Parts: sequence; C-alpha cells; structure tokens
Amino acid sequence: MGTSIGIVGAGISGLHLTLRLQQLGIESTLYSRQDPDEIRSGPPLNFVTRFGSTRERENSLGITEWLSSEFDNPWMHMRIEGEESLALRGALPRPASSVDFRIYLAGLLEAVIGRGGTVVQRRPADSRDLADLAAHHDLLIVAAGRGELRDVFPRDPARSPFRTAPRVLAGGLFHGIAPPEPPGMTMNMVPGVGEIHAPTFHSFDGRVTAVLIEAVPGGAFQTVIGPEHRDDPELFAKGVLDLVTTYAPSLRERVDDKEFGLARPNDAMHGSLVPTVRRGWAEMGDGRHALAIGDAWIVNDPLTAQGANLGSAQAFQVARALESHRGGYDAQFCMTLSEQLWATAQPVVDWTNMFLGAPAPQVMSLLAAASGDQRVADAFIANLDDPPAMWHSISRPERTAAFIESAQSTRSA
Ligand SMILES: Cc1cc2nc3c(=O)[nH]c(=O)nc-3n(C[C@H](O)[C@H](O)[C@H](O)COP(=O)(O)OP(=O)(O)OC[C@H]3O[C@@H](n4cnc5c(N)ncnc54)[C@H](O)[C@@H]3O)c2cc1C
Repeated sequence: MGTSIGIVGAGISGLHLTLRLQQLGIESTLYSRQDPDEIRSGPPLNFVTRFGSTRERENSLGITEWLSSEFDNPWMHMRIEGEESLALRGALPRPASSVDFRIYLAGLLEAVIGRGGTVVQRRPADSRDLADLAAHHDLLIVAAGRGELRDVFPRDPARSPFRTAPRVLAGGLFHGIAPPEPPGMTMNMVPGVGEIHAPTFHSFDGRVTAVLIEAVPGGAFQTVIGPEHRDDPELFAKGVLDLVTTYAPSLRERVDDKEFGLARPNDAMHGSLVPTVRRGWAEMGDGRHALAIGDAWIVNDPLTAQGANLGSAQAFQVARALESHRGGYDAQFCMTLSEQLWATAQPVVDWTNMFLGAPAPQVMSLLAAASGDQRVADAFIANLDDPPAMWHSISRPERTAAFIESAQSTRSA
C-alpha cells in the first residue's frame, strides 16, 4: 500500500497540495469544512492577488480557467503620500491576477472532486479530533488557515515580533471605479496612517475593484472600521469614498460617483490579524505527526499580497518532498521539511514585517529612485513575485544602493 496523506482545509494551500498530489499519484484525503456551493455563498474573506509564479503553478495543475489575459493585472501603481509625494508604476514580467477566492477555491475543490479525489466534509475542531484523523494517515498536513486549529502549533516568539494587530482591515468589492491606466493594481501608502489597495478584481458580477483599507490602529483610517460600518453597507461605502477622497486623490479621479457602491451588499469584509509564525509541526500520538502549511503556520499581513502566494509555493514544496521521500514521516522528517519551508517563507515574513513599520530609509531611497527611473520601478515591482530578491534588495542600505545601481545600468526596453 502507498503512502496516505491527510490534508485538512480547502484553502489555496490545501487545494494546491491536493491537486499536486493527485498529479503525482500520491494517495490523499482532503478534509473540507465546506462544499463548493458553501464556499461560493459566503462573504469575501480576503482580496487575493496571485502573482506569476502562482499562476504558473495553477497552469501546471491544469487549472486553465484564469489563464486568459482578461484576468490579467499587468501593472502595479504606487503612491507614497508625504511632504513630497512619490509616484511610481512598474510592469510585472508576468501579469498578476486577482480573482474572487470564493469563485477560485470553489472551482479548485470541484477540480479535485472531478478528478476522482477523496474529499470528506469534516471539521476537526481541536488536537484530539486531529489525532483521530492522524491515526488514519501516514502524515497529516494542516492547511486550515488561522482558525480554530492554529493552537495545535504554538506561536514561535523568536519569529513573531507582533503581539497585536499592526493594521485593522476593512474592504469591499466596488462598482464604479475605472481601472488605472495602464491597467492593474494600485496602492496608496500614507506613512503612519495606513494603506489603500485597489486591485482590479474579478468577482460574481464580472470586473469590479477591490478596495482594501489597512488602518494603523488609532489613525485616521479608523473612521471606516466601526461596528456601524459592518452593519450598514451604504455607510461603509460612503466612509471608504471619504477616505479615498482625502488620502488617495489618484484613485478618487477614477471613481464615477453615480455608479460607486458595493457590488453586492455582502461584498465587504472587516477584521484584523496578528502576523504570527508558529511551530511548523506537532506530534499527534502513536508516532503520527502533523505538518502546518499556509496561514495555519504563518500569518502575514496582506500589505505585501504574499500569504496565498506563499501557501501555494509551500504546497508545491511539500509535494516535492513527499514525492522524493522514502521511509516514515517521523519528527525528524517534519522538522527538516519545516525548516526547508521556513527558508522559503522567511523573506516574505521579514519583508512584510519591515513594511508594517515606519518606512526604512533605504526603502524610501528605493521608492524615490523608482519614481524617477522606470528601470528601477520595473525591477522593484518585478520583485513582488520574487520575495528572496525583494528582501535582498531592501534588507540593508548597501544592498539597496547596489540594487538601484544595477537596475540603472540595464538598458531600457
Ligand atoms: C484582506 C486580505 C487580503 C489579502 N490579499 C492577499 C493577496 O493579495 N495576495 C496573497 O497572496 N494573499 C493575500 N491575503 C492572504 C491570503 O488570503 C491567505 O494567506 C491565504 O488565503 C491563506 O490560504 P490557506 O489555504 O493557508 O488558508 P485559508 O484560506 O484560511 O483556508 C483554510 C481553509 O480551511 C478551512 N478550515 C478551517 N478550519 C477547519 C477545520 N477545523 N477543519 C476543516 N477545514 C477547516 C477553512 O474553511 C478554509 O477553507 C490576504 C488576506 C486578507 C485578509
């Protein structure tokens, strides 16, 4: 009999892993809390942009639904407000795509089922339930996000500098915002106050714009995150428009007042999260183990749009390790694989956590150089899909200087 892998959680991490294991002929069972229709019918939980590497993995999984250029977000526009505001835009070498995860994940789950995968609707609630499942598998992979199973994997204080949420999040899918020119995503940063992201997005109503407000607690963006805004979609939309008017004039110019509003009344989300890295694996008793991936292991703030992209990368890394591994899945296997996964994750965590703080001087000098030189802007934006290169380029002033110099020495296309 071959290896049997149990996977808990049908988010991008669990679904990319399940689809990959199906391709590799490794037996797996996916434990999903919801069926595809339930996934489609809830409110949005996030507004995910998938970069080129994730789209390439999707393609290799035979997920071709989102391949068309109709779903492309090829450009990223940024404005950093301040005494002397900076504006830059860069082209991604491979376009990103922002598709409503309620549609995307339901489709992936249907693909798993359509390809003959074993999917069990079950919701283990704690470590005892998980141990029951673990007894049926050689290894359990927990991809259940930042929900109830997270405490199975204790917080790693050395890798988790935050104790409270550095941002409060509020966002929605809106009609009445024209795409930027050239098309893609926009981000307005107001240092000390927060960020306003606005990717062009594909949802149930076709093309809309996701507006995500990231509010520094206690700052001016807090005005849209009160309980009254959760209960009243129109008040929320008005609050978002007021913030955009004051803090993101370049986005405001694209708003058609007559059309502006939430695409559907439940197309809004509110919340906050504490960026956290947990221990990546746990003993389940009887010699069985569980490995955490995706948000079940590491929660990043959405500021850098990396969590789902990282979950997908981890899924493929785990599948590769399972494909080549011979022998049991003991503590040593889990520990070694978890550290290999950390090598992939660390640049994302370090970069995201750095951007949550006051802008580092070298980051400001990079953004200033990018606003004045398209080659630097393109090199910086390309790194959104290459976290190790991004972290290398911003982690120390001398590296940033070398990155700028190297970009400036390339010839314009
Ligand atoms: C506002 C916002 C914007 C974001 N924007 C981006 C972005 O642009 N790019 C990006 O890469 N990332 C982004 N992220 C982060 C991204 O959403 C997450 O990192 C990613 O979705 C995590 O995927 P996951 O599969 O690990 O976990 P989840 O997406 O949380 O999936 C976990 C699944 O497990 C299920 N589950 C939970 N508990 C159980 C249980 N006990 N039993 C069975 N199933 C269970 C859940 O129902 C869910 O289906 C954003 C996040 C937010 C909040």
